[in-house]
Amino acid sequence: MDPSERFSLRSRGLRASEIRALFAVAARPGVVSLAGGMPAADALPSQVLARILGEVAAEPGALQYATGQGAPGLREMICGVMAEEGIAAHPDDVVVTTGAQQALDLVTVVLADPGDVVLAESPAYVGALATFSAHGVQVRHVPDDGAGLSGPAIAEAVDGVRRSGRRVAFLYTVPNFGNPSGVTLSAARRAEVLATCDRIGLQVVEDNPYGLLRLEGEPLAALRAAHPGVVYLGSFSKILAPGLRVGWALAPAEVTAKVVLAAEAAMLCHSGLAQVAVARYLADEPWIDHVKALRELYWERRQTMVSALSALMPRGTRWQVPEGGFFLWLALPDGVRAKAMLPRAIQEGVAYVPGTGFFADGNGDDHLRVSYSYPEPDAITIGVRRLARVVKEAAEP
Ligand code: PMP
Repeated sequence: MDPSERFSLRSRGLRASEIRALFAVAARPGVVSLAGGMPAADALPSQVLARILGEVAAEPGALQYATGQGAPGLREMICGVMAEEGIAAHPDDVVVTTGAQQALDLVTVVLADPGDVVLAESPAYVGALATFSAHGVQVRHVPDDGAGLSGPAIAEAVDGVRRSGRRVAFLYTVPNFGNPSGVTLSAARRAEVLATCDRIGLQVVEDNPYGLLRLEGEPLAALRAAHPGVVYLGSFSKILAPGLRVGWALAPAEVTAKVVLAAEAAMLCHSGLAQVAVARYLADEPWIDHVKALRELYWERRQTMVSALSALMPRGTRWQVPEGGFFLWLALPDGVRAKAMLPRAIQEGVAYVPGTGFFADGNGDDHLRVSYSYPEPDAITIGVRRLARVVKEAAEP
């Protein structure tokens, strides 16, 4: 059979992620990986979860098919988690999903057609770009002025797309500690973005997996807290454990109903076992204390990385210190190309993600992403030392 006849047109949008390819290389012995965005090994409450999972597995119904929308008890607890972000939500408007990633996938199915355009930050989360591409949805990056999204930049981007005759399905944004930018949108910018989107009739999809991992400064209310029309995505991956694959979407009732139908069509239901375990964890364990301990752990790692960068990186390398989350976004000295430099970095024993992974339009080769979440502090310092050597060599060949 002719391969071009076998595959759907949409399958052309399924592309290997730069990060996935890197995981294999970064896992080689001796390589310090600053590439992945995994939680610290110490951050996962393994013993507690092992006990809870064992207990709930033995309960009636726990191993049966679950509901498409998610366990009511968990949806109620999720509203309690969102209250920490200033959001007042009703459990009926929550859909539990297999990670925030699936929430984004389902929301994309429900809100965007192939050929539509989604607006995203510059740079944008690589997993979101993969989802949009898989659904034949194009991405238009909104120019960043160093402080994230702005009303005028959004309005201009939407105008450009609409003038070309295409539909803008929604704005996708990570307002807290962006992945990879580390940027947090200020309160004033949040208000400006919401006012602009309201005025031009643009749906906002807010992705907030890192919101509770603020390492310094005052918490800012989520966009959804100020506007009930915002579709909000949350996750237990960073505050509990990614292996549970439990996330959620909070959306206006009519969107929620469609997301539930899309979830049922894709997979009947999510893991009921994981949902009941998370609900039990939230109900019985001091989960907010665990989050506070995580803030301390990541604060130390971020400090280690920032000190090492300040001490070691060659002139011309620039970064902003993120107020939370897992990532730092490094602007490289003039002429240094992140992708071309990577094989040399791996040879020297350090891995990072080239900035090109975070743009749908080929930009970003003058940046790279490093993460402090997974490596131990000593490894962070060693990794940054190796990276600094490689950047210096590339800047002054
Ligand atoms: N959104 C962002 C911005 C992320 O960084 C990630 C995880 N890397 C996700 C969504 C997906 O998270 P989950 O594990 O809940 O699917």
